[in-house]
Amino acid sequence: MKKPIIITTVVIAAIIAGLSSTVFTQNNSSDEIILSDAEQSAGNTETIMVTTTTNVVTDLVENIGGDNVSVTGLMGPGVDPHLYRPSANDVKKLQDADIVFYNGLDLEGKMGDIFVKIGREGTAVWAVSENISHESLLSLDNTGHFDPHIWWDAELWMEAAKVVATGLSEYDPENSQAYEKNLQEYLTQLEELDQDSLEKMNSISQGQRVLVTAHDAFQYFGHAYGLEEMAIQGWSTDSEAGIREIQNLADEISERKIKAVFVETTISPATIEALTAAVQDKGHDVVIGGKLFSDAIGEKGTSEGTYVGAFTHNVETIVNALK
Ligand SMILES: [Zn+2]
Repeated sequence: MKKPIIITTVVIAAIIAGLSSTVFTQNNSSDEIILSDAEQSAGNTETIMVTTTTNVVTDLVENIGGDNVSVTGLMGPGVDPHLYRPSANDVKKLQDADIVFYNGLDLEGKMGDIFVKIGREGTAVWAVSENISHESLLSLDNTGHFDPHIWWDAELWMEAAKVVATGLSEYDPENSQAYEKNLQEYLTQLEELDQDSLEKMNSISQGQRVLVTAHDAFQYFGHAYGLEEMAIQGWSTDSEAGIREIQNLADEISERKIKAVFVETTISPATIEALTAAVQDKGHDVVIGGKLFSDAIGEKGTSEGTYVGAFTHNVETIVNALK
């Protein structure tokens, strides 16, 4: 709505909406209903320009915003947000937006200053994690940071969905009912996903409920769905995995006879491959159980291109490998 061309479109659309309501009113006795339809479509014509960071956040905003928003995501599938440095073009996309939604909790570690700057310049900037209570957040040893990977607990992601609905309604109160309706429908989907995942995880025997990955993206997932989580790296990918860490983990995997470990779509498989080789050297035959979506979901248009689809893929991959 910052560009004059959009205002023109809005005016034309409003005129068309007005004209069509006149035409229909003449042919229909139920004037009241027809008029309220026309009013509604006139209200829907202003597209809110939203810029997001990860494609997990993009998917969330698209679900809550529906047709009223046009979302530009900066990071596509396979992009690691911990290391992501925005280009000049990205900064422009953030500045041109009506609203910016990002994950927060330092996930977008190299972008913090930009969010502060564009917020000060007057753009509405929201961290979708901002309403999650500190008691619900997990922290990691020695860092003093909260773990940012909240989306792998569907219940916490419901809190993020509420923040998006609030942010959109504050900017665009005329369509707040539509955002509320979308929110309620999406919360129902997430609730089902949460319950379904819990049931599927319960089919894995207790001793195999261990999730070994390259980086610490699944603490919330493990906490919510009853798996112990072990990773070669800490929560950020901004550090090299040490040989000693790989050896320690290999010892534990072979002692506990853990069947499978997992690679991630946003991380090079090299460290996990080094880990499986180290375990096999100890005489235990561990396999790579599949690829998990961690800091990004899949390609748009595929079944894993939505949060719910990517989550379901992860659950099924883990269950199939560890059951
Ligand atoms: Zn991560």
